[in-house]
Amino acid sequence: MSRKITFSIIVPMYNEEAVIQETYRRLKKVMSAAGQTYELLFVNDGSKDRSAAIIEEYGYWDETVKLIDFSRNFGHQIAITAGMDYASGDAVIIIDADLQDPPELILGMIERWREGYEVVYATRGKRNGESRFKKWSASAFYRILRASTDIDIPVDTGDFRLMDRKVVDQMNRLPENNRFVRGLVSWVGFRQTSIVYERDERLAGETKYPLRRMIKLCLDGITSFSYKPLKLAGYMGAALSGIGFLFLLYVVYLAVFTHATMKGWPSLMGIMLIFNGFILIMLGILGEYVGRIYDETKGRPLYIVRDVRGLAAGLGEKAALPRTGSGGQP
Ligand code: UDP
Ligand code: MG
Repeated sequence: MSRKITFSIIVPMYNEEAVIQETYRRLKKVMSAAGQTYELLFVNDGSKDRSAAIIEEYGYWDETVKLIDFSRNFGHQIAITAGMDYASGDAVIIIDADLQDPPELILGMIERWREGYEVVYATRGKRNGESRFKKWSASAFYRILRASTDIDIPVDTGDFRLMDRKVVDQMNRLPENNRFVRGLVSWVGFRQTSIVYERDERLAGETKYPLRRMIKLCLDGITSFSYKPLKLAGYMGAALSGIGFLFLLYVVYLAVFTHATMKGWPSLMGIMLIFNGFILIMLGILGEYVGRIYDETKGRPLYIVRDVRGLAAGLGEKAALPRTGSGGQP
């Protein structure tokens, strides 16, 4: 039987062959400085390059290296979730594979954890070497999220964080499919604190989060934590019918008390376009929610594992069980 593991480091990777060796080296260095047992849990999210092969090779002579190999690309948030299902440490740390999150910060997180905090997340004070558009869109993302959700999700904070076993166990009970991990961590509560850091440039390779995926992540965040967009239709409808009623009074007044007739085809057309636009937008918002409800009712497992290295096989099935079935809580 292997020794009890104190720290589990989860590293999701999608086509990261250019950086993964350096990431491995830096993580090893940091974790040996931490001086406790640990495991490096790499989740290969359907990479089409040699990422998984490289890690597999390390695993032959380094028993701390473990690999969960997905059958295809399931997405960053799902990869993290799988890592949490398989992790066995007393504390679990999630870190990006591209070294944008400096591994050295883990030591600081561990310190705060020892002080009694159950979640230590890393907030980006500054972002280096990313395009202006990326910075702007990321900043907008966190602010839109904050404004539209009902729980307190910290701004400028990614998934780079440490979580206590207690938190991970609770997270693993949450059955939803469209996962927004950092929101869920806020939702489960516990004693949380943050440390601020400067986000570095990607060491190599390119971002796997194009605008399309950012928008999906943002919508997942908003729809899983708020009904506000759905209520928007009600408010807009009330405001518009109020305006419409006043306008009608005015038209009647003109017809009865003056000789002015209102000429209005172009303006009518314009107003129609605007309102039909509103209606379609609201239908789209409804669609976002309905689609997600549909995803949840299908009850498919979150991910499919081709192979695991260095871990007990079948663990994922156990972990996936409460998520399948008809949605009843265990
Ligand atoms: N990632 C993943 N699956 C995906 C997309 C990304 O596992 O479908 C991983 C990626 O390898 C990296 C982390 O998630 O370790 C963050 O991705 P990225 O650095 O591309 O995002 P950014 O830092 O640009 O927001
Ligand atoms: Mg990155």
